Amino acid sequence: MADKVKVATVSLAGCFGCHMSLLDIDERIVQLAGQVEFIRSPLTDIKRCTDCDIGLIEGGVCNSENVHTLREFRKHCRILVAVGACAINGGLPNYRNYVPLEECLGESYLDGIGVENPHIPNDPELPLLLDKVYPVHEVVKIDYFLPGCPPAADVFWKFLTDLLEGRDPALPYELIHYD
Ligand code: SF4
Repeated sequence: MADKVKVATVSLAGCFGCHMSLLDIDERIVQLAGQVEFIRSPLTDIKRCTDCDIGLIEGGVCNSENVHTLREFRKHCRILVAVGACAINGGLPNYRNYVPLEECLGESYLDGIGVENPHIPNDPELPLLLDKVYPVHEVVKIDYFLPGCPPAADVFWKFLTDLLEGRDPALPYELIHYD
């Protein structure tokens, strides 16, 4: 285990679709498991990020907890990667940026269709929503970007094998898409 490359992953304001796409490398996951140790990740259910080689960030930044988590990743990951449209430009969660936060909360908790017991939740345990959803590179420095919604399994494979074999990652044209 000591020689394995340490990888941490997290979903901020994302749907876990990018994580699922990584798993779509299918049987190549066995080869990857021989070279990589997943530390903080939904795969391990470990919640804290410790020092590691590669951090994969899915999802945009929508609340104070996302900011804290992202900064923790930047502090501990030698290479930090924005994975997928939500991390790169806010993606689907970014749609709320077209509506003021107060209106979003009102529609969801006060006067939207089907709302009962209207009140805006304010338990101190709840992370505070930011005024809008931010791409991750607007909060911390990002080293690489993997576009796509989600990036295809072959994108993860090419990117990770390049890094593991000491090459600067380079995606061929046919693997790059921006859906
Ligand atoms: Fe989900 Fe697409 Fe966002 Fe990835 S980029 S978290 S697949 S919506």
